[in-house]
Amino acid sequence: MSDYSINTKCVQSGYTPENGGPRQIPIIQSTTFKYDTSEDMGRLFDLEASGYFYTRLQNPTNDMVAAKIADMEGGTAGMLTSSGQAANFFALFNICEAGSHIVASSTIYGGTFNLISVTMAKMGIEATFVSPDATEEELHAAFKDNTRAMFGETIANPALTVLDIEKFARVAHAHGVPLIVDNTFPTPVNCRPIEWGADIVTHSTTKYMDGHGAAVGGAIVDSGRFDWMAHADKYPGLCTPDDSYHGIVYAEKFGNGAAFITKATSQLMRDFGSIQAPQNAFYLNLGLESLHVRMPRHVENAMAVAEFLQSHPAVEYVNYSGLPGNKYYEVARKYMPNGGCGVVSFELKGGRKAAETFMKHLKLAAIETHVADARTCCLNPATSTHRQMNDEQLRQAGVPAGLVRMSCGLEDKKDLIADLAQALDAI
Ligand SMILES: *Cc1c(COP(=O)(O)O)cnc(C)c1O
Repeated sequence: MSDYSINTKCVQSGYTPENGGPRQIPIIQSTTFKYDTSEDMGRLFDLEASGYFYTRLQNPTNDMVAAKIADMEGGTAGMLTSSGQAANFFALFNICEAGSHIVASSTIYGGTFNLISVTMAKMGIEATFVSPDATEEELHAAFKDNTRAMFGETIANPALTVLDIEKFARVAHAHGVPLIVDNTFPTPVNCRPIEWGADIVTHSTTKYMDGHGAAVGGAIVDSGRFDWMAHADKYPGLCTPDDSYHGIVYAEKFGNGAAFITKATSQLMRDFGSIQAPQNAFYLNLGLESLHVRMPRHVENAMAVAEFLQSHPAVEYVNYSGLPGNKYYEVARKYMPNGGCGVVSFELKGGRKAAETFMKHLKLAAIETHVADARTCCLNPATSTHRQMNDEQLRQAGVPAGLVRMSCGLEDKKDLIADLAQALDAI
């Protein structure tokens, strides 16, 4: 990890050109790599030397960008994946197997909730979901002898709950289990979960990191702090010989700093192939170069929009942890003193009908399921993603019919507020 500030890391980490080399990260658009002798290549297959042989497992462009993200998060190793879904699956499946159990926050992203509760359940991996607001005692009670990972999101998408990272880490560590935190919404510019005790950090780089809605991607960063060998009985995949690599013991051979990512690359990437295209890694890096400039503007716009909505008579309530009085205001200030992200949600008085009219009249804010890029967008779940539910079901699910999620982009806040004002007037 370098000593530079996060601002400098966004721009410079991960790649240092050699004399006369390209200033920008080169896109290594090659599936395969050439060696002079079979012995040279054999050493790679034995994990005796590091290097590249096939882009299904590893590519130099991806590794430069992953090294930047690892440096930004303050971790020891990182990898890119084809999507945020792949990142969370790999992070969990790297230490879980049939018969394992996961404790996860209940307010996580819907895709991750399905991954854990449906797809991983089919693989024989059980889960217990806990409220992010649960007391330490309640969190302890969710653990079982076969619990292998604890999971949460710094700021949950779309619930916007804020994770008390220190509390979750304390409980996970008391059970000899690592805490995995999905840090997609704040990005390492606004929060670095490893500094608060998280062991593994994941990202959907599709969101703010890319920041322009250009490329789907994911990332995993290891803090290097979790002592796998001290819990060897729980993590045989890291602490006992891997038969598919001539009996290598990852935790012994690569140490706490590199074992997790090496295993995820050489086993999971080899077998599942969820690699990010080098071209996408290049786009991702362009986004990272301005992330520290963009995040403060996303926060500024969201704060202005939240304050405007809060004072508007057509709005029932506003959910944004930057607003004093929000349930998560204090915990958000602790972990994200410079603000969290650009996503705000609010409920319109007048339910479904009001939301329909409001959405129809928006001019600047586009209707999209996406969040967290340069262009402002809005979503009314009742008339789109959740349209199969009736009003009563929606209320029970915590997404009332009049709820709107707004992802504040990088436009001028005066124009965003004017757009909202005219759409609210139309109701
Ligand atoms: C979008 C998102 C994901 C999934 O990422 P994809 O890149 O869409 O696969 C995971 N976690 C969070 C918090 C997200 O917002």
